[in-house]
Amino acid sequence: MRMERTHTEDETIELGGRIAAELPPRAVVLLIGNLGAGKTTMAKGILQGLGVAKLEDVTSPTFTLIHEYESASRLAYHIDLYRLDEARQVAGLGLDEIFDREAIVLIEWGERFPELLPARRLEIRLESTSDDQRNVQLQWLG
Ligand code: ADP
Ligand code: MG
Repeated sequence: MRMERTHTEDETIELGGRIAAELPPRAVVLLIGNLGAGKTTMAKGILQGLGVAKLEDVTSPTFTLIHEYESASRLAYHIDLYRLDEARQVAGLGLDEIFDREAIVLIEWGERFPELLPARRLEIRLESTSDDQRNVQLQWLG
């Protein structure tokens, strides 16, 4: 387990870039925290760091559920399960097929459906401690 702290949105993006550099070719990464904690901001940093997207091209998948990003050498997904209430709905998304790919899979609100997640995953917990300060806890499971 590792603890970090960021003091601005840009620092969270920068931390995401450092996390991206440490990820194996295939990883499921849960982004955990309340609304506004910085999950999508962290996703932006990771996706930029992977080289699959520019910051301004990353938008929240709250309504679209799954966004796919690709570069010549890497594949990444950004998923938001906030709007889904039942495991049955999530099962319909075909996540297993995505988990089988050589890809980085970032998931917001995925902790609500633990039975649908691979045991091996990185959990990133973001906690707001003031307007701009976030505690960030990184933990590999499995
Ligand atoms: P979530 O996806 O968890 O709902 P977002 O990343 O969409 O959160 O929004 C986080 C909000 O908090 C943004 O408005 C961002 O500017 C603000 N913010 C302030 N400080 C930070 C920080 N240190 N890290 C990330 N976001 C921050
Ligand atoms: Mg979000």
